Amino acid sequence: MWSAPTQNAGMTKIRACIKEGPGKVAYAEFDVPDPGPGQVLVRTTLTTICGSDIHMVDDFDMIPPGMPMGHESIGIVEAVGEGVETLRRGDRIVAACLTSCGSCERCEDDEPQVCSTHGAPMNLLFGGQAEAFLLNGADFSSTIIPASIDDRQALFVSDIMSTGFAAIERAGMEEGQTVAIFAQGPVGLCVTAAAKTYGAGLIIAVEGIPGRVAMAKKLGAHHVVSPENAVEEIRQLTGGRGVDVAVEALGRQATLDACFAVTRFGGTVSSVGVYGTEGSVSIPLDGSFYHRRFVTTLCPTGRKRLDHLLRLIGDGLVDLTPLLTHDMALADVAKGYDMFRSHSDGVIKIALR
Ligand SMILES: [Zn+2]
Ligand SMILES: [Zn+2]
Repeated sequence: MWSAPTQNAGMTKIRACIKEGPGKVAYAEFDVPDPGPGQVLVRTTLTTICGSDIHMVDDFDMIPPGMPMGHESIGIVEAVGEGVETLRRGDRIVAACLTSCGSCERCEDDEPQVCSTHGAPMNLLFGGQAEAFLLNGADFSSTIIPASIDDRQALFVSDIMSTGFAAIERAGMEEGQTVAIFAQGPVGLCVTAAAKTYGAGLIIAVEGIPGRVAMAKKLGAHHVVSPENAVEEIRQLTGGRGVDVAVEALGRQATLDACFAVTRFGGTVSSVGVYGTEGSVSIPLDGSFYHRRFVTTLCPTGRKRLDHLLRLIGDGLVDLTPLLTHDMALADVAKGYDMFRSHSDGVIKIALR
């Protein structure tokens, strides 16, 4: 069905979180953009701050000052650009954090997360932490949220649930297998929830921060061991055999090394950590590197992926809303960045309304 472009009725100015400079964000005012071909304008109802936002503001020079921030957002379609076929004004959608065109070679290979046609410096959605934002490739980069799923549940499918669940999927974990997950930040906790959802027999999380230890148990970890002696404890808990799957969810060389050390021969090390400013990481060649599999995962996106994750939520197999430890108004976004950056007050995810 073809929808004619519509005016964004009623909205003239919006406020948005921008990178002001290294280590600093601001809440600035903009004119409301009109959606171009393939785009929709989305009025944001819920968004959040991600670990990669902190990297982009603090560490990555390729994100210039003035860049609108945010890529995990839910909202209502306010205006529809030319050529958008499956969305109309008033639809409640979740946006994929990586947008896709649906027609390039990579999209046709069913790898929309590495779509080659959108955006600079990458196809990451920018501007989601705003009263409204433009979404590229809207037919492919979003989906309508079923009425039975609320915004707080759906928020996670845009990014961290997809990444966390993919860490387990790409490891090829089978029901009943043993999994160790290094670090229980927001993504690591999603990996723990995924291991439970997909039927792991033994889930061992590695974490030292008390609030996160408790959250790991709530989401399905059978044991939570401290980082200091994780390798030994995991060996003990698996009778010396090691785990079938070890997941690196921190982005550090030390935890990657530990993943290899606790993985059984023939098992899989699955890496989803963002290695931030580390120029490179190395893979240990001691032990039996040759008898293990190593997979890395980029957040899978696209409408089919979003629908799959929403189905898991809708079927009651997973509920990640406990991760939303704090609520704030979007206008307080700078405070939210400070809180998220310093992990203060036990913050895991902040719901920005
Ligand atoms: Zn993110
Ligand atoms: Zn594409």
